[in-house]
Amino acid sequence: MLSKGKAYKMADKKSCQDDTGDFPSDFKSKLKFMESKLATRNDPSDNLATNNNNNNPYQELYQSHFHRNQTPNQRDHSSGMKRAKEKRTAVMTSPHFRILTSSCYDSPIPENCIRLVCLSDTHSMVEETNFVKNVPYGDVLLHAGDFTDHGEICQYQLYNSFLEQLPHPIKLATPGNHELTLDPRGLSYDVHIMRRDLRLPDCSESPNEENYKDVLEKLLGLLSNSIILVDAWVSVCGIKIYGYPWLPMHGVPGFGLKRQGDLRKKQQLIPGDTDILLSHGPPRGFGDLTRSGKNVGCVHLANTVSQRVRPKLVLSGHIHEGRGLYTDGITTYINASICNRVYNPVHDTVVIDYTLPAGYTRHEHVLKLDQKSLIVNRCEPETCS
Ligand code: MN
Ligand code: MN
Repeated sequence: MLSKGKAYKMADKKSCQDDTGDFPSDFKSKLKFMESKLATRNDPSDNLATNNNNNNPYQELYQSHFHRNQTPNQRDHSSGMKRAKEKRTAVMTSPHFRILTSSCYDSPIPENCIRLVCLSDTHSMVEETNFVKNVPYGDVLLHAGDFTDHGEICQYQLYNSFLEQLPHPIKLATPGNHELTLDPRGLSYDVHIMRRDLRLPDCSESPNEENYKDVLEKLLGLLSNSIILVDAWVSVCGIKIYGYPWLPMHGVPGFGLKRQGDLRKKQQLIPGDTDILLSHGPPRGFGDLTRSGKNVGCVHLANTVSQRVRPKLVLSGHIHEGRGLYTDGITTYINASICNRVYNPVHDTVVIDYTLPAGYTRHEHVLKLDQKSLIVNRCEPETCS
């Protein structure tokens, strides 16, 4: 059974092995070393990032945006195995969107594009800082989960106030495992206190999907400035965005499932025509490499993504040190973690100009976006194939 309650609440963050730790103290010297390696390396996939096109926004991004904070798989060139892992991090231009460098954040948005501002793993660490002032404008804000420390009422309120200050017309999120109180199974650390604080009548039964529904409804009500996608999708200007919070069971238990069985059933719900998959956990091999050198992402999710769904973009977080930009040649994967391994919000958002589907324009569609009019389509086993 899942560990609930106070045991987790009182646990030191360092015991939550999914996303803790920090860069080594000699990080700066390693960065210098890496920069010199990058300058001399002759990897064909690099040509995509540095293809002599001075207007290619990827080049600067590669140099500054992600590499400013090195991820472990970009550090070590010594073994062939690590080189293979690292190759996936080489930046490729997606035919579907371009990633902006910070100098372009105020640039006019092209008529055929919608601007997406992506982030993940803010962990209640940005609300009381200047972070909000540094979030660039966009049409859609996408948060890939772990927006709270551990899903307390006050942390949802804090996040909602943070969102209130942002002008983005559409704000979407999928929960992370730290939003364990949004898990429909009722993983609240103390459901009696939660019910009391939400002014709901107490319930003597142990939490289950039925008797937790009213708690969940109240908690989602606290997040009124965002649409929270759990096994559900919205269509924004013809772009299908699906929220998938489930993870292989590990550490903080929210949305944790066994790798076999239940997890695969959840993956089967992801529609085959999904354009953007908002998945808290990265698929195996794409933004999931821990400091200890293990790829801990879900292999079944990786197969679902690469073999069946083939979305244009997978936006994830969860493995903070896996932050980066990856590709398999078809799908682009972004781990947009804002916090580092010791929960300091040291990174920036990732800004994308995503090309609108045929028939959609900024003037006619994007500028008329209204979050309240978006329809949330839930995927249940019987309604989705
Ligand atoms: Mn996290
Ligand atoms: Mn997480």
